[in-house]
Amino acid sequence: MKKIASLITCFAILFIISLPSSQPKSFSTTSQFIPNGVPLPGAFIITAGYHDPSYVKIFHKEHTGIDLIPAPPYKNPVILHSTISGIAYHYSEQCSGNAIIIINPQFIVYLGHIASFLVPNQSHVSYGENVATMGESGELGVCITGAHVHYQIYKKVDGKYMIVDPTGYIN
Ligand SMILES: [Zn+2]
Repeated sequence: MKKIASLITCFAILFIISLPSSQPKSFSTTSQFIPNGVPLPGAFIITAGYHDPSYVKIFHKEHTGIDLIPAPPYKNPVILHSTISGIAYHYSEQCSGNAIIIINPQFIVYLGHIASFLVPNQSHVSYGENVATMGESGELGVCITGAHVHYQIYKKVDGKYMIVDPTGYIN
């Protein structure tokens, strides 16, 4: 895995989570609550790091996740999987595009700029389950400069989900 000085990057994302009133189901004891690995299959490249200084120069904003692409050459569609067990939510916003967000009692993972959703909104997904295809949704040339997945992690601390550096979980 090596970092390249690529402009394949994206606008930082902050979103508001509105949990549905009907909180789904119980989690099985085999649920993987702690994020493990990356949502991409196989080898990957980080194109923008967490709080990447070069990102700030482009977008004048801090980068609150990491941007990933499969190691080239790769073929589309690139299937993304969940790195935790949880409930999957669909999210869409003009600038940052489409995202799938997986929430469990300890963590949230956010997969941004996806091309398509592979699971229904508010469905229970398992660790490793395919949830989306990689894409470049969002305002191209303004908020995103190419196909990748923006991977962001929130950890629950003192009852609140806080953004953390994903690189500690991708090993
Ligand atoms: Zn990003």
